[in-house]
Amino acid sequence: MNGYSSNTEHSIAGIADLVDTILDETSVEEMLKILVERIPSLFSEPENMSVKISWLDEHCESDSYSKPGIILTSDITVNGKKEGFIEIIIAGKDTEIENNADLIHNYEKMLHLISRMISLFFEKRKKVMELDNIEKKMRSYCNKLEDYLFVVNSNGNILDFNTSFETCTGYTAEELHQMNIKDLLTQCSDNFENSPMIKDAAVKGSSTFEFDHRCKSGEIVPMSITCKPLANNDEKTFICVARNISEAKKAELELQESERKYSTIVEKGNDGIIIVQKGLVRFANSKALDITGYEYEDIINERYLKLIPTEDHQRSIEWLNQCNSNIANKAIFHVDLLTKNKQELPVEITGSVIDYEGSEAKLLILRDISERKCIEDILKQERDKLENYLDVAGSIIGIVGVDTNITFVNKKGAEVLGYTKDEIIGASWFDKFLPESVRDITRENFIKVINGEIDPPEYFENLILTKSGEERLIFWHDVPLEDENGKRIGVISSGEDITESRKMEAMLVESENNLKTIFNNIDDLISIHKPHGKFIDVNKAAVSSTGYTKDEMLEMSPKDLVWPGMRPMMDGYTERIMKEKNIIFEIYDVHKNGSLLPHEVNSRLIEYKGEQAIISVARDITERKKAEERLKRYAGELKHSNELKDLFTDIIRHDLLTPASVVKGYTEELIMTINDENALKLAEKVRDNNDRLIELLETATKLAKLQKNEDIVFENMDIVPIFKMVLDSFKTQHEMKEHEIVFTADGPCPSVVNTVIEEVFANLLSNAIKYSPPKSRIEITFSDENNMWKTSVTDFGIGISDKDKPLLFNRFHRADKKGIKGTGLGLAIVKRIIELHGGKYGVEDNPAGHGSVFWVMLKKA
Ligand code: ADP
Repeated sequence: MNGYSSNTEHSIAGIADLVDTILDETSVEEMLKILVERIPSLFSEPENMSVKISWLDEHCESDSYSKPGIILTSDITVNGKKEGFIEIIIAGKDTEIENNADLIHNYEKMLHLISRMISLFFEKRKKVMELDNIEKKMRSYCNKLEDYLFVVNSNGNILDFNTSFETCTGYTAEELHQMNIKDLLTQCSDNFENSPMIKDAAVKGSSTFEFDHRCKSGEIVPMSITCKPLANNDEKTFICVARNISEAKKAELELQESERKYSTIVEKGNDGIIIVQKGLVRFANSKALDITGYEYEDIINERYLKLIPTEDHQRSIEWLNQCNSNIANKAIFHVDLLTKNKQELPVEITGSVIDYEGSEAKLLILRDISERKCIEDILKQERDKLENYLDVAGSIIGIVGVDTNITFVNKKGAEVLGYTKDEIIGASWFDKFLPESVRDITRENFIKVINGEIDPPEYFENLILTKSGEERLIFWHDVPLEDENGKRIGVISSGEDITESRKMEAMLVESENNLKTIFNNIDDLISIHKPHGKFIDVNKAAVSSTGYTKDEMLEMSPKDLVWPGMRPMMDGYTERIMKEKNIIFEIYDVHKNGSLLPHEVNSRLIEYKGEQAIISVARDITERKKAEERLKRYAGELKHSNELKDLFTDIIRHDLLTPASVVKGYTEELIMTINDENALKLAEKVRDNNDRLIELLETATKLAKLQKNEDIVFENMDIVPIFKMVLDSFKTQHEMKEHEIVFTADGPCPSVVNTVIEEVFANLLSNAIKYSPPKSRIEITFSDENNMWKTSVTDFGIGISDKDKPLLFNRFHRADKKGIKGTGLGLAIVKRIIELHGGKYGVEDNPAGHGSVFWVMLKKA
């Protein structure tokens, strides 16, 4: 056959050979080129043939392709889709010639076969390319994975891995390919195939284990490895995905730690924790249960206010509403918690907002402060006690801080300064309480003490300024206060106010000087001597009147000075002084020149410089002795004058009173007969004045009689009925003035009296009637005054001025009593009679307001 190979098998072999040739060709362009070159050889007349192939975007054609000829085309179809074509041009053939028609027909068949084979090839190639792409893509994905991927066979040899694995292990890819997984995973046994990971993976299809992975650097990285057998392999291989779990491990450890911590805080902490949601307790830790005394079930889902006393509900709700999440800024809530057994327990609560089981809740931390309160109370008590001690202290106590302000002052300090404690505390010591004269220097020294440059003087005197502006002198004792590091933080001062004692000292010095002056200038002889011993001191008078010098006298005893005839008496006197403490005696001392010195000595036992001593004041009684002589003489004369007085009294009684009584009788008769009004008035005046004269004479006689007491006899008599009798005799007078008489006697008042006592009662009663207005009250009372009975006559009359009171009982003293007649002798009689009875008398203002109380006291029987 012409130009056509009849052996189809041969043709197919040629095509297969051609496909094999291009099989390894990677470049499509090159591949097409080979095909264009080699396809003509598959035909019987390759010389007349040119070829053109197009696949996808690539084209290739023979050099002679543009020659005219018969064109045959066949498509390249990949997966049923036309992707290109093969075109051959057969030159120099006339289609009219029959043989040619066969040839062309054969050529067509051949071309079709070729395109079919090439299509299949392309189909396969495309698949490979796709797979290749996928593999590349997958590998790049794998390399991008953070997880480590590696493939091992059942012996543990590393077959493949991604870059993360390389990076993690620190080995190069070459090194890794030579290695066995046992070199990297420390826990892997030699028998890798039988390791639990591989076995599990084979049986279950996948297994996950944690391993410690050793890097090239020696670092151990904990890893979680999931292992899966790879299917479709001749040898058993396993793909492993490993993940660095060091962070997770760390986080887990931290979480465990934190969980432990929180559970410790929540469960074992010292504070109670409760969570409150919508007013209900949703959680309570064991400490909260401890504090409240409730069981968990008693409290969970119960109202939070169950724990709060009713009176604090409002306060508690308000506080709870104010709670926000920022604990630090929040006020602490103090309340007494109501425990299960209805006791109140002081707690301190802090609160914050948390999210609890999906909604807002309040987390409350309760701290039992009962012990702290207790300690606080004890401390407070201690502080108060201490302050009390300091307040009780008689000294001024104060503390001045480094800022020179006062941080403490006790009661005494405040008293002396004249301010309240509040006014003092916090004020500047130097500016407010020290006078300007000492302010700066004291401040300078204080600062030096605080800086540790000097220690305060142990004791010193300084002035302070009180609120009233007065300066007072204080005797100070300062001690620096130090903190635990020895740093000076202030000065504690205790002080005594010595202003007064200083004044006193000055006064004492002055008084001592005065006394000295007196001691030395007094005319009496003053001496101090030891009992039975020598003189310790003598004054100038003693020296000058005895004629001895002071030194000479100090070598002598009082006995040496006494006239020898009287010396034996001196020991007796000394004994008496020691016993009776104070005696007065007369003695004759002897002058140095031998003359006698009559002395009256007043000796007293004293303590002198811690020992017993006798101070004696001796008075020169030469003059008195003379006076005594004179007195004796006068006594005789006096007796004579008393006789004259008696005579005078008798004259009064007999010679004056009798004619006056006669005048009285006649005048009264005269008045009865007179009709003329003027004459009557004159006659009445005569009568009244005569009455006064008689009264005066009678009382004067009485008084004169009373001066002579030798004939008075006393008897035991109840004075109550005596007064009653007197009262009866004044009935007319007090009834005329309509006086209300109140006579009070609790019982008999037996006294030692003479009947003349009536005179006393009569005088007091008549005065009360006389000097008080009509219709007023007069009270007569008897009271018990130890060994005496007191009789008081109280009136509500005009009263007596203080200036008159002391004089009333003197003869003829009359206070200004306008229009009231009297002799001014009545109270003098009272005085004399009471004196004769050894009693007492007096006058006071009526305590009720106006009027007087005249009283007398008489000895009980
Ligand atoms: P007379 O005769 O003046 O009353 P007395 O010696 O009895 O003399 O009293 C002396 C003075 O004391 C009186 O003048 C009168 O001023 C005053 N006197 C005495 N008793 C009272 C009295 N009860 N109330 C006021 N003054 C009195």
